[in-house]
Amino acid sequence: SSVTVMSGILKAMNFAALKHSFQKRKDAAGTPYINHPIGVANILFFEGGVKDLVTIQAAILHDTVEDTDTSFDEITANFGSEVTDVVKEVTDDKSLPSAERKRLQVVTAPHKSDRGKAVKMADKIYNLRDLQKSVPIGWSIERAQQYFSWAQKVTNGCRGINSNLEQILDNLYSNGKIIY
Ligand code: NDP
Ligand code: ZN
Repeated sequence: SSVTVMSGILKAMNFAALKHSFQKRKDAAGTPYINHPIGVANILFFEGGVKDLVTIQAAILHDTVEDTDTSFDEITANFGSEVTDVVKEVTDDKSLPSAERKRLQVVTAPHKSDRGKAVKMADKIYNLRDLQKSVPIGWSIERAQQYFSWAQKVTNGCRGINSNLEQILDNLYSNGKIIY
């Protein structure tokens, strides 16, 4: 019912907001980090047409394990195993060197579930739009451009499950070059 859906979304939003409190994005404005997971869920729903509660909750929670003290068990206890499975698919192993993590995102993308692919695409759309607005603190323009090329390799492995998101990404890669 709509009450179940509302409670599921509010619970995920509140959980993520508490976990990400005090974290900021890498932009000069110091944007609160929670803007990002909320924005990724917003892209999925309004631009991707994704109406699946598990996917929306996973999007809201997608960076909690990677970037905070949250464990997968905690996600399961609060949101169930379906949500956890998707969060796992989009969580990097931070014990690996960053170059290896980036390589793994490219090679594992085609093997993710449809839900995992959708969250991955929306995540990259949000980050690429951020990069178009301003270069993160400490980044060269070349590094921002390299992020675009790498993101394209990752999202190419996510094709075939959501044409709306694919179209947005194609436009970002073709017309969306970085011009500061
Ligand atoms: P990234 O360089 O990949 O940082 C980008 C990540 O930061 C995004 O995926 C996003 O992740 C998050 N993020 C936060 N704020 C923003 C924002 N405003 N815009 C875009 N993304 C944002 O990760 P690392 O910090 O791990 O960097 C290490 C890697 O960077 C190395 O592997 C190396 O390849 C590369 N590098 C390149 C250099 C160069 O000059 N070319 C120099 C140094 C490193 P999320 O969705 O999780 O928030
Ligand atoms: Zn993210």
